[in-house]
Amino acid sequence: MGVGVSELRNWLSAYDKTQITIGVVASHSSLQILHGARLEGFRTLGIAVGENRRRYYSAFPGADPDEWLMLDDYKQMLDYAEWFREQNVIIIPHGSLVEYLGSDNFKELQVPTFGNRGILHWESSRERQRQWLLEGGCMMPKVIDDPHDIDGPVIVKYAGAKGGEGYFIARDYRDFKRNVKLEEEFTIQEYVLGCRYYLHFFFDPTASDGFQVRGKKSKEGQNLGRLELLSMDRRDESNVDEFYKLGSLRDLREMSLEPSFVVTGNQSVVIRESLLPKAFEMAEGTVAESFELEEGSRGMIGPFCLETIVTDKLEFRVFEISARIVAGSNPFVGGSPYSDINEPFMSTGRRIARSIRKAIDNDDLDSILS
Ligand code: ATP
Repeated sequence: MGVGVSELRNWLSAYDKTQITIGVVASHSSLQILHGARLEGFRTLGIAVGENRRRYYSAFPGADPDEWLMLDDYKQMLDYAEWFREQNVIIIPHGSLVEYLGSDNFKELQVPTFGNRGILHWESSRERQRQWLLEGGCMMPKVIDDPHDIDGPVIVKYAGAKGGEGYFIARDYRDFKRNVKLEEEFTIQEYVLGCRYYLHFFFDPTASDGFQVRGKKSKEGQNLGRLELLSMDRRDESNVDEFYKLGSLRDLREMSLEPSFVVTGNQSVVIRESLLPKAFEMAEGTVAESFELEEGSRGMIGPFCLETIVTDKLEFRVFEISARIVAGSNPFVGGSPYSDINEPFMSTGRRIARSIRKAIDNDDLDSILS
């Protein structure tokens, strides 16, 4: 079911707009979100399980929340919905919140939340993501339906795996058979050789200036809102990023070692400037398509990330989208080579808070929350 716009408006009508509190689960990109909220003049609330989690925030006074809600289990957030609303809380969702609560529970959380929760349905399945991104004009890695057809390097991805855990590379059917866990749901994708760039965009549906996304299909000819590029990262992945140091893949296999793709950190990157028009074209198509995903879709709101590989033909392949803040934006608490051009010190976390601030001033909060 999720939360309807009339329900959201109903909650917001009882909110004291001078006392809005930004609430976030203490993980993922919370330092950046709390810091950004503070810079935009908001009270902040940290939500955590376990004293250890809370304690380390005292090492970062610039982000340490004004208040804490300590829980035994993150699912208790559902029971605290009324309390959150009484405290005028707006929750900023991130990957860990969705993971800890479960995407169905998150959809039902009876608290105003930044962004469009409806888009999660599309983001949470590889099949639906693929449909969305292809319709949006992105080129994606090929999918191999029958493992017998593997005739070059592929990456095998398990459904619901987080941070690339358990993924493996296979060069042929024999490789595939040797490594696959058949009891799990998996997708076989062409392994795209190239450099990875994770593009952090922000879509502001309330702004009528800047790079305007043009609507298509049902919204043909309309300007839908402003698209911004805030930053770009590349993930450090263990152990694949350091694998080459031990020799060739064959040497490593002799030692029974396989590459793995577990995210351990993030680095700042910029892309060749001549690739930016294509990057914007893909992001524009993806945003325009988000309004067409289903009847009455509210489309993208706020941060999203296109996860890409650029080949030596200078072509992008998009292998995933995240329709919310990504942890890859964490290196940019103090701004990025892209966001600095427009305004110094603009992190994604702060950009979210800025958006909420503007909506409060325009009495328009329901257009950016769900
Ligand atoms: P998350 O949900 O945290 O974004 P995930 O578990 O869905 O991660 P992916 O982002 O799909 O995993 O992939 C993990 C890593 O595997 C990527 O960062 C990249 O290094 C590699 N990878 C994924 N797809 C491909 C591909 N088609 N070709 C080459 N490498 C790939």
